[in-house]
Amino acid sequence: MEIEIATIGGYEEVGRQMTAVRAGDDIVIFDMGLNLSKVLIHDNIRTEGMHSLDLIDMGAIPDDRVMSDLEGDVQAIVPTHGHLDHIGAISKLAHRYDAPIVATPFTIELVKQELQDEQKFDSGNDLVKMDPGGTMSIGDSGQVDLEFVNVTHSIIDAINPVLHTPEGAVVYGLDKRMDHTPVLGDPIDMKRFREIGREGEGVLCYIEDCTNANKKGRTPSENVAREHLRDVLYSMEDYDGGIVATTFSSHIARVKSLVEFAKDIGRQPVLLGRSMEKYSGTAERLDFVEFPDDLGMFGHRNSVDQSFERIMNEGKENFLPVVTGHQGEPRAMLTRMARGETPYELDNGDKVVFSARVIPEPTNEGQRYQAEKLLGMQGARVYDDIHVSGHLCQEGHYKMLDALQPQHIIPAHQNLKGLSGYVDLASNQGYTMGRDLHVTRNGNIIQIV
Ligand SMILES: [Zn+2]
Repeated sequence: MEIEIATIGGYEEVGRQMTAVRAGDDIVIFDMGLNLSKVLIHDNIRTEGMHSLDLIDMGAIPDDRVMSDLEGDVQAIVPTHGHLDHIGAISKLAHRYDAPIVATPFTIELVKQELQDEQKFDSGNDLVKMDPGGTMSIGDSGQVDLEFVNVTHSIIDAINPVLHTPEGAVVYGLDKRMDHTPVLGDPIDMKRFREIGREGEGVLCYIEDCTNANKKGRTPSENVAREHLRDVLYSMEDYDGGIVATTFSSHIARVKSLVEFAKDIGRQPVLLGRSMEKYSGTAERLDFVEFPDDLGMFGHRNSVDQSFERIMNEGKENFLPVVTGHQGEPRAMLTRMARGETPYELDNGDKVVFSARVIPEPTNEGQRYQAEKLLGMQGARVYDDIHVSGHLCQEGHYKMLDALQPQHIIPAHQNLKGLSGYVDLASNQGYTMGRDLHVTRNGNIIQIV
């Protein structure tokens, strides 16, 4: 059976991931993501009403025109998890394919919300839920199956999809870290990866998440970030002024830890900001997390401001607002607070906890710098970097190669400089560039069999 892999997006950058695998007559697409920085660089752009081709020209979504060079039928579109760089282009591209979108329940719910917000296109794709550990048959040949292996990442319900073909398995490894003690959900299923590496024809090709490929050592467990956060918040137990925290809204495990520790130090947590309400509300509705009954979540500007007024009236020493804006995004809640645009008043000595790291990109770095300066001008004191990455470092990559023993590797989810660490690492393990280690570009097709 012929096997081809189209590396469509996310092979020259972190963002707008999209990969298609053709096995005989059947094609499966993994991820359709957005490169958010290409959108945010323009002031006040609203993508909801924009045409796909304009977004492709901006470099914001994958250029999927290479799909016409693949001879076969798309049988499924499979987003691996709910981050926008993996699902953010579905509303712009999925309608071009007569295929269902297959994903885990939390991811499907986020995709559904993306499709509801879309104004330009009407997607007729069926939404099909499959749990981690599940499998389904692909196409009519009876020879190709799709399997979801449970992985751990900075968002719940993440999986690595595996396409089983008569030539071996194609394992799509974006995005994960190796977490044996996640705060929410099950540990990564390394046992299954080892089995896939040894059963049948083994692993034909592994596509790897190289976000942290230049970083030595191991990515710590979410439990480490949780204990760091506990240490920081408990140290503030006797402070009788304002404490504000911010983190990735989609990072439900982190939000859960913040909510718990706020209660532990005698403060009422409140989630504020549109995406805070969206992700935490969705996770709670689908029973992925249990929050206290009295936890307030507010997204709309008016209800957020009312909540801030209540906090100021009842005493801010009684509350811990968890807000959007960990990257200093100009329109996010924390930046508005820093500019004095909300009823919440920061006083000298108030604490601001960033349970996030700055995404190393000049726009983010500049905006975050500005937000921190503005917070400082109000007298606030900053605790930063209370965080662990959602992506494997080098030791995790070695472990994956050991488990899967792939015949071919395609490094992804980075620019060329970012991929270089992985090329060195894989070369150390006996792979050779151009033979079985394929460093590629967006828009290429690699014939594996
Ligand atoms: Zn991700």
